[in-house]
Amino acid sequence: MPLRESIKVFRKLLPYITRNWKWLLLALLLMLISNQLATLIPLLMKRVIDEAIANKEFNLLIILSIAILLLTIGTGVLSGSGRYLGAIFAQRVVYEIRLRAFRSILSKSFAFFDKMPTGQIVARVSSDVDRVAEFLTRPLMGFTNALLLSVLAVIAMLSINLELTVVTLLVLLPIALNFYFYGKRVGPLYLSLRQQYGVLASVINNNLMGIRTVKYLAVEEHEVEKFRKENNKWLNLALKLFKVQALHRPMSTLIIGLGVVIIITIGFLNIVEGRLTVGGLWAFISYMFMLLWPMRIAGFFITAFQRAMSACHRVFTVIEAKEDVEEEGGLIELKNVKGEIVFENVWFSYDGKHYVLKDINLRIRPGEKVAIVGPTGSGKSTLIRLIPRFYEVNKGRILIDGCDIRKIKLESLRRNIAIVPQEPFIFATTVKENIAVSKPDASMDEIVKAAKLARIHDFIESLPKGYNTLVGEYGVTLSGGQKQRIEIARAFLVDPPILILDDPTSNLDAETEREIVKDLRELMKGRTTIIVSQRLPLVLEADRIIVLDEGRIVEEGTHEELVRRKGAYWKLFKDQIEAYESWVKELLIVEEGENA
Ligand code: ADP
Repeated sequence: MPLRESIKVFRKLLPYITRNWKWLLLALLLMLISNQLATLIPLLMKRVIDEAIANKEFNLLIILSIAILLLTIGTGVLSGSGRYLGAIFAQRVVYEIRLRAFRSILSKSFAFFDKMPTGQIVARVSSDVDRVAEFLTRPLMGFTNALLLSVLAVIAMLSINLELTVVTLLVLLPIALNFYFYGKRVGPLYLSLRQQYGVLASVINNNLMGIRTVKYLAVEEHEVEKFRKENNKWLNLALKLFKVQALHRPMSTLIIGLGVVIIITIGFLNIVEGRLTVGGLWAFISYMFMLLWPMRIAGFFITAFQRAMSACHRVFTVIEAKEDVEEEGGLIELKNVKGEIVFENVWFSYDGKHYVLKDINLRIRPGEKVAIVGPTGSGKSTLIRLIPRFYEVNKGRILIDGCDIRKIKLESLRRNIAIVPQEPFIFATTVKENIAVSKPDASMDEIVKAAKLARIHDFIESLPKGYNTLVGEYGVTLSGGQKQRIEIARAFLVDPPILILDDPTSNLDAETEREIVKDLRELMKGRTTIIVSQRLPLVLEADRIIVLDEGRIVEEGTHEELVRRKGAYWKLFKDQIEAYESWVKELLIVEEGENA
């Protein structure tokens, strides 16, 4: 990322930095004192040379030596503490950023997740945030520390001799430039080398994971060739890096050596003219080396800065990504919802170009059960996602009990709607917590009641730890039907006036489907329900059926009406209806036989 951009990103970081200014200030203060002590050491050395050694004063030498020793210890302790406080500062900053990023991710609408893959989001909240932390802890603190030290060193130099200070600074200029360009060249090379290392690792990893396929297809040579190419890139980068390093070392030694020679020569002239002491010259050269330190790391600092800021930029794009669904002013809290849902001339498009829903007009009465059916891609799922405002309509409006859903508080809107999804999701935690996700403050009694209504209580009781049994990734594996019952229990727990069934029986076998339909029938009682389904048994539960095709409502009526019409609905469900009818017939024959 270019420097100017990096600085822009850094500005976004400033509020987090200023919120933790106390830690930063303390850290800097300790560093300042530690540096101040460090710059005193050459001055004491000057006295050792000029006074103690020159006059052979042994007592003074002892006193000065003890003082130097104490200063060294003090410098170490203070700079260590400064570093510690600096680390606290950095960690507090990234703690806030991480929390903010996580909160902001959870508040995003579906459109955000459509655009950004999960892996990327995870990387941004974890490793990218870490990168920022690392930068704030070491390069930033180290460089600030070095800068502080140099300012103090220049002040100390000025107190000894003005002319020589100016000369030293002039001598340092080419040295600084040399270090700067070196850092700027080497930094990106290091980075590329590290990235290439990642590429190599992933080639190895991929081949090991797919070793059987590689062997089965007999493509070993091809894979080796691929690896050789990447390995070559690595070699070239490494050689380039070592070349730059190899050139830099003698060059910088030469320039520094020349610098020292110039300082010594001018220092000598000053000593001869009585404007400088031998100890003073020694102190000067010490300060010159102190000044070298920030120069040595400046180039690296800038690379680290740019790198950290591009990571920071990635984090902030997550934090700042616009919410497609935004809360407006005058927010209404829903109370005593009757459950009337109205679609008024609703148009919707995911990409702003192609309409997925076209001029939908639909009135669902309180407590009515409406099934939405249609071929794959006709817009069924999209239609139901608009009700809880997972996406925003482009034209027209949706009303609940006569109130435009955009005027309703999002939280209030969603609390009044429960969704039973096609693929139930089980969290890696206890059964109890899995049910209570829909209502985290639910009491145990409420949870058990919901589980009983969803007819999963007996099963849960039979588990080794009952409601405290771990399920999901690290625990007991649940069957499709059991998972769906957990979802149903979640919905019972919320007890919402509006219910959305998003094809919840499509992945179940016929037997389980019949059982789950029975449970859903209980759940639907007294609630406005929208059923999206490809499966006849669930569609038959609806009072009214809406048939969608390419985003438009093409048929509407009861099952019997639509079957009689032999239109789109008949085409969609013909096979299932015929199978169902023959099944019912068989059932009747069996019953007749039993009765005879
Ligand atoms: P159905 O539920 O009837 O199968 P959908 O509502 O899922 O239909 O899809 C309707 C159309 O919208 C399809 O063309 C589908 O490709 C598109 N679509 C669905 N979800 C998204 C999405 N998240 N982003 C972009 N297009 C989508």
